[in-house]
Amino acid sequence: MFPLRRVGSKILEQWRAPVVAAKVQRNYSSEGPQRPLSVLTEDELAMKETIRKLATEQIQPLVKKMEEEHRIDDSVRQLLFDNGLMGIETPTEYSGSGCGFLTMMLVVEELSRVDPAVAAYVDIHNTLVNSLFMKLGTEEQKQKYLTKLCTEYAGSFCLTEPSSGSDAFALKTVAKKDGEHYIINGSKMWISNSDVAGVFLVMANADPSKGYKGITCFIVERDSPGLSVAKPENKLGIRASGTCMVHFDNVKVHESSILGEYGKGYKYAAGFLNEGRIGIASQMIGLCQGCMDATIPYTLERKQFGQSIYNFQGISYQIAHLQTQLEAARLLTYNAARLKENGLEFVKEAAMAKYYASEIAQTLTSKCIDFMGGVGFTKDFPQEKFFRDAKIGTIYEGTSNMQLQTIAKILQKEYSQ
Ligand SMILES: Cc1cc2nc3c(=O)[nH]c(=O)nc-3n(C[C@H](O)[C@H](O)[C@H](O)COP(=O)(O)OP(=O)(O)OC[C@H]3O[C@@H](n4cnc5c(N)ncnc54)[C@H](O)[C@@H]3O)c2cc1C
Repeated sequence: MFPLRRVGSKILEQWRAPVVAAKVQRNYSSEGPQRPLSVLTEDELAMKETIRKLATEQIQPLVKKMEEEHRIDDSVRQLLFDNGLMGIETPTEYSGSGCGFLTMMLVVEELSRVDPAVAAYVDIHNTLVNSLFMKLGTEEQKQKYLTKLCTEYAGSFCLTEPSSGSDAFALKTVAKKDGEHYIINGSKMWISNSDVAGVFLVMANADPSKGYKGITCFIVERDSPGLSVAKPENKLGIRASGTCMVHFDNVKVHESSILGEYGKGYKYAAGFLNEGRIGIASQMIGLCQGCMDATIPYTLERKQFGQSIYNFQGISYQIAHLQTQLEAARLLTYNAARLKENGLEFVKEAAMAKYYASEIAQTLTSKCIDFMGGVGFTKDFPQEKFFRDAKIGTIYEGTSNMQLQTIAKILQKEYSQ
């Protein structure tokens, strides 16, 4: 015992607070009123309430139909365009709503509370397509595409391929130079919104000899000859969200269709997926809240042994525990969103938010089915859909292991300085 204590104290003597912790702290301004994370601005709150009403009154009645038909109803897609939700952050000059990043996350959260499939449609379109156009597009590209993305059609982000998922930059789709054009060949897999998208952002390698540094982002229109979209995958969850393979067979695009810089596609994909992950975290917290909102009233009403089942500590303590985890996930998510919105480092926080929110969503939705008993196991109640929809959170925009890898790498860097 004694030697062990001596070793312990030696470690303590050598221990120093990691330099990075102090550095990060200094980046935060201590000026101005400090707003608790859960207190929203008036505009944010107004948007959250508006979307809650819109989702409850106009989307909820169609959720079952959309789930069964495996597609988002045309009326819902139109509703999203009409209410500015297909260009939430996009500046008004391109027909967008000009809102902030956190507001966009609140929209995703509220839509997901009613239907996580509709939330996926809006989230991916806004965070992975509009954002790239907004930040990288030339004025001409913005005028041509952003306006339509806000008012007319959805967009798809095409990175994953059959042989490259987590190892995304091992992609095989190529773009061969041909005079002023590029000829794209390859196949993309699991492409959200591709059933209806009017434009595709395609990561293709324009110079495979340079490895991932040849990856370039191309704008490809749906009606380009050689582009074909396969039938939607038959999925476990978010069934109304169209996820298809997209094939490129000698698709010819002009060099002016490069978005951003030649050879920077890998950087853009990695960077924007970091932001996108906050959207998936928002989708998960919205879904969890929707599930709790459908479950708690039932446990208060349902009587067994002469009393409401909520009165049993075995039920209410579990609900309290899950709601606490949900609140922690929400705070992680809002924090990552506020960091991003304020131009601060957010990569670790985004990975943590996505990892934690999607992992707790698995347990929370499963437990809610338990609290419902037999009826929770039927399609007459929404819990089983939330349970199935939750599963995608640990997979897309980087699996849980990939989030842990990101967090671990950043921690290693912080503690090695
Ligand atoms: C419904 C849906 C929608 C999607 N939408 C899009 C989209 O719009 N655009 C797009 O480009 N992609 C999209 N994707 C693809 C998605 O991002 C990938 O499925 C995801 O990145 C995982 O890749 P994979 O499926 O090839 O799994 P793999 O990479 O094969 O992973 C399989 C397992 O191995 C683990 N693993 C892999 N590497 C490591 C490692 N180094 N260490 C530890 N564990 C590891 C993973 O965590 C996972 O558990 C979508 C997927 C789905 C299912």
